[in-house]
Amino acid sequence: MNDKALSWQHSLRDAIRDPAILAQQLHLPPDSWPAILAKNCTPHFGLLVPQPYVARMQRGNLADPLLLQVFPQQAEAQMQAGFSTNPVGDLEKQINPMLLHKYAHRVLLLLHPRCAVHCRYCFRQHYPYQNVKSGLMAESLTYIQQHSEINEVIFSGGDPLMLADERLASWLAAIEAIGHVKRLRLHSRLPVVIPARVTPQLLQLCQQSRLQIIMVLHFNHANEIDAAVADSLRQLRQAGVWLLNQTVLLHKVNDDVPALVRLSEVLAENQVLPYYLHALDAVQGASHFAVADGTAQQIMHGLRSQLPGYLVPKWVREMAGMAYKQPLI
Ligand code: SF4
Repeated sequence: MNDKALSWQHSLRDAIRDPAILAQQLHLPPDSWPAILAKNCTPHFGLLVPQPYVARMQRGNLADPLLLQVFPQQAEAQMQAGFSTNPVGDLEKQINPMLLHKYAHRVLLLLHPRCAVHCRYCFRQHYPYQNVKSGLMAESLTYIQQHSEINEVIFSGGDPLMLADERLASWLAAIEAIGHVKRLRLHSRLPVVIPARVTPQLLQLCQQSRLQIIMVLHFNHANEIDAAVADSLRQLRQAGVWLLNQTVLLHKVNDDVPALVRLSEVLAENQVLPYYLHALDAVQGASHFAVADGTAQQIMHGLRSQLPGYLVPKWVREMAGMAYKQPLI
């Protein structure tokens, strides 16, 4: 195993799981700890944040936009009408627990049940990952093989880049062997939180594949992009990977025009196209991140006024059972 492979796996192993340790590392003012420390409200989805991401948080700032994305808060225990454990209808679109067929011509493979970070607003935080077994690989591949209309496969999770490169290579080879598949999308937050995940082996896999590889990253704030992240993005581009970004509009994290303009500008500097600005999925435990549609509309107006059209992400909401994500304006 080379240095980079070791380094990202060490970062996974050394990730912070205890809110008190994170608060200490960030020098949060002791008198304000009880308000935010609280407890891990969701036992199956406790605090998880790797050190390379913590390094980008501002010390002593309880309102740091990166901290707010990962720190469990008491508000997660609020039960809000309309919020559920299956907010976008994933369960109704299962071919099997590993394979979702939601939209025409593309399918989603949930390759790994875990992530390198627990984002408190995650729409899949209640997904029954315990049913995703490696034994479903053959059945899933047969389904894709038998559906010649499928031209794009999306590796998702959890986070598909939690797989070691050798496992990822087997999946990639299996998809490449299905002639009607033209594109492979990788939906991952790993290059955001642990940029060392972009290993030479991963780059080689992308570069040598017969498939067009598209990586959909997940940056919510410009502060998430530091020199190490920028370097990994450059390497991915050089390997021929198309880079897109999806952002979730989150209260107190990025729900203002300057924050989102800056994000689009920094993405542009790194040749990553802002693709979607998602309205929060109504997942149980995340209602405190919701932004009213009226506010979002004003934000979109501000973005259109200040950015060239290609740097304005599409504001969309995923609605269960619909044939595509719904454009909001
Ligand atoms: S990395 Fe993605 S799938 Fe994992 S917790 Fe965050 S939003 Fe959810």
